Amino acid sequence: MTAVNIPELRRERYNATVVRLYRPQPELMLLRVRPDFPMPAHEPGQYTTLGLGNWEPRFPGSQDEDIAEADETKMVRRAYSISCPILDDSGNLLDRTKTDWIEFYVVLVMQGRPDKPPAFTPRLFMLREGDRLELGKKFTGHFTLEGVKPDDTVLFLSTGTGEAPHNYMLWQLLSRGHRGKILGACCVRYRKDLGYLGTHTTLVERYPNYSYVPLVTREPSQGKKVYIQDLITSGEIEERIGIPLDPSATHVYLCGNPNMIGKPEKGVYPDPPGVVGVLEGRGFTCDLPRQRGNIHFEEYW
Ligand SMILES: Cc1cc2nc3c(=O)[nH]c(=O)nc-3n(C[C@H](O)[C@H](O)[C@H](O)COP(=O)(O)OP(=O)(O)OC[C@H]3O[C@@H](n4cnc5c(N)ncnc54)[C@H](O)[C@@H]3O)c2cc1C
Repeated sequence: MTAVNIPELRRERYNATVVRLYRPQPELMLLRVRPDFPMPAHEPGQYTTLGLGNWEPRFPGSQDEDIAEADETKMVRRAYSISCPILDDSGNLLDRTKTDWIEFYVVLVMQGRPDKPPAFTPRLFMLREGDRLELGKKFTGHFTLEGVKPDDTVLFLSTGTGEAPHNYMLWQLLSRGHRGKILGACCVRYRKDLGYLGTHTTLVERYPNYSYVPLVTREPSQGKKVYIQDLITSGEIEERIGIPLDPSATHVYLCGNPNMIGKPEKGVYPDPPGVVGVLEGRGFTCDLPRQRGNIHFEEYW
């Protein structure tokens, strides 16, 4: 890299501060970011962007990247769902009116395609509390609780950091005294990849209408691998919530790995099927730009 004035670039381009940073394991990060500007109005479930300059250092051991001289002062930005700790430091339901930060939940991508190294997370994972970055001013997205009625059943099904927007929506449901059943399930490789496990455990003890199903696929001690789709086909979700899955009173939220979601491409469903294929066979419909439905999804790539 040629000589660029890094302190000046950071001063000019960044508009937010990392006010808290917690790593449940070295490749997973819960990050609280306080903007210099008033917090934009938004709905739980929506996303914004985080940005860092190409001049920032990369995480040791991450895939090498060649930056052309002309790009050395450019920014790299990625979309991130807004997450939520749900509980405050005293263990009470978070009072959002008293916070001037938002939380993100991000996994480090060390390796991308040979021709496309991951540009953002290897830089993000070099940050420490007090460091600066760019926060997008536009908070947007249709992945929200719009249309959910107080007695509806709500399922939040995710892989990895896909639970981020679900946590914020869960906070909203609990804050407004949702009466229907709520179930969260998150599929990860190892137990250490469940960054909010402690919070969900507390919530399950406190809210009789909430259940949480963590799924791990690579722990040596685990038996048969169980994926999110299996929870539906085996009837485990219905067993957990204690009532049948009724499409007229249930909303399902899917977030994370596109294979888990399994939306059809040009009318063709993936094989093996994802959750969309399984649920459509049981009377659910996708929520799409021109079709209101009860399967809502957000793909991360
Ligand atoms: C609307 C939206 C919201 C998003 N919210 C989040 C979020 O809250 N947390 C988060 O960690 N990521 C989220 N992402 C993904 C994020 O935008 C980046 O793609 C990701 O952080 C990797 O960035 P990168 O530049 O390092 O690598 P990229 O070049 O962007 O991605 C390289 C490859 O990494 C893999 N990948 C990307 N994201 C993930 C992931 N989350 N888990 C596992 N593998 C992944 C994919 O195979 C992808 O092709 C979101 C994406 C979208 C579209």
